[in-house]
Amino acid sequence: MVRPLMWFRTDLRASDNPALHAAARCADRGVVAVYTICPKQWRSHDMAPIKVDFILRNLKALSAELEKKNIALRIIETATYKGVARSLRGIARDLDCNALFFNREYEVNEQQRDEAVTEAFETAGAEVRTFTDQCLFEPGELRTSTDRFYSVYTPFKRAWLRALEADCDRSTPLGCPKKQPEMIGKPDAMPVGVNGFDLDSPRTDLWAAGEKVAQGMLTKFIHRRLDSYKADRDTPSICGTSTLSPYLTSGVISLRQCVQGAIDANNGRLSEGSVGAVHWISELIWREFYKHILVGFPRVSRRRAFRLETERIVWNENSEHFLAWRQGQTGYPIVDAAMRQLLQTGWMHNRLRMIVAMFFSKNLLLDWRRGERHFMRNLIDGDLAANNGGWQWAASTGTDAAPYFRIFNPCSQSKKCDPDGAFIRRFVPELAGIEGPAIHEPSAMPALQRSALDYPDPIIDHAATRRHAIEVFKALNR
Ligand SMILES: Cc1cc2nc3c(=O)[nH]c(=O)nc-3n(C[C@H](O)[C@H](O)[C@H](O)COP(=O)(O)OP(=O)(O)OC[C@H]3O[C@@H](n4cnc5c(N)ncnc54)[C@H](O)[C@@H]3O)c2cc1C
Repeated sequence: MVRPLMWFRTDLRASDNPALHAAARCADRGVVAVYTICPKQWRSHDMAPIKVDFILRNLKALSAELEKKNIALRIIETATYKGVARSLRGIARDLDCNALFFNREYEVNEQQRDEAVTEAFETAGAEVRTFTDQCLFEPGELRTSTDRFYSVYTPFKRAWLRALEADCDRSTPLGCPKKQPEMIGKPDAMPVGVNGFDLDSPRTDLWAAGEKVAQGMLTKFIHRRLDSYKADRDTPSICGTSTLSPYLTSGVISLRQCVQGAIDANNGRLSEGSVGAVHWISELIWREFYKHILVGFPRVSRRRAFRLETERIVWNENSEHFLAWRQGQTGYPIVDAAMRQLLQTGWMHNRLRMIVAMFFSKNLLLDWRRGERHFMRNLIDGDLAANNGGWQWAASTGTDAAPYFRIFNPCSQSKKCDPDGAFIRRFVPELAGIEGPAIHEPSAMPALQRSALDYPDPIIDHAATRRHAIEVFKALNR
């Protein structure tokens, strides 16, 4: 007779949840659900308050969904991951659960926590079952011809597509869990705050909670924007991307639901047909690629560079530059608009993440880890694998990184991705009155006009800092 304890983590949804689905199917004495809040651990992982708030709101929505299935969601709080095994054993004992089900996570601390939890349950004679959820292929399942983890995206992507063509069921979502005959215990009241996080200014207007909301966003994106995704994805002033990253990161929607949605919209095709659909799937593969990197090269979880030789770089320590970048006061309008978008909305468009991260690590030559941390502390979709992958790409320290000599010019990037300056005008209102292309480079305007603006001069010279960065990277090969 089985009564599973279903442990929710980064999978805050009832539909297409492999662990929940299996728990509900094999239970014959009901299912209990639990979520663990770990304030101190979350702070040490630089989790953004806006992300904590998003998690809490999604827990509330999840609890309501689970109630419809007669599953009570319990909340436990332990300061760090160290206390999780004990707390989970406690709830399992109290509610007479004799099995533990969860979906796997891949970061180093999370894996250590899960090993401790597994040992505690197995020692007590309880069964532990874990499931692949964040990826279609378990990290390590796709390997190179020399039996290694892939460290380059394009061959990884080819292998991923081949494997999915050969086993299309991998992307089929599982649907909803089976309703239980009766509820075991009662759901806990959902917390409205977490110790040490200031949740005063949540952006509920931008990021509504719940899997129904996420499903609706996916459907709308697929119907209205998927086909034009490739053409529109690099223009931040238009809504050309899905903006599903917060939902994917917290597991409010699954990767399978996204991949299958795109395949269905593309008449069952995976790598041909709609260029938008094919390109969108390739972005989802980037997400999975970085998860695999986390497992194959765990040093990246420990703030180490993927390319170890780049650890010899002596980064600048300039705190004024760091502050100007964080506050969106660098004098480069596109960089400043992007950084202010992050502070105001908890999210930043992908092209802009690339621009500001490259500006940070190449023009300012600041240590990419500081930028990575600032992103984590402010992003609603902060995800170690994707964030680290993106930062190491921009800093040319990672897998598949941007070649060190190809350094974006923020002004040309600005003209390309925000041709009419609409995005800059929205986030840098002090420049809203500038007409025409001058908006991309106000420092090139006549001195009199420039001095009338309440806007800083560029904090660095692009050409000179670019030359210097190239020298620094070139020296690594000597
Ligand atoms: C410096 C830097 C930091 C980043 N930090 C994060 C982060 O913390 N969390 C995060 O989810 N993404 C991160 N990304 C990747 C990407 O910028 C965001 O996933 C994307 O902007 C989210 O917008 P969207 O949901 O509209 O994406 P869409 O364009 O609609 O793409 C769909 C999904 O694919 C995934 N995806 C798209 N591009 C990438 C990519 N380059 N790498 C990995 N996954 C991708 C995301 O899950 C995204 O939601 C980062 C990129 C860079 C360059």
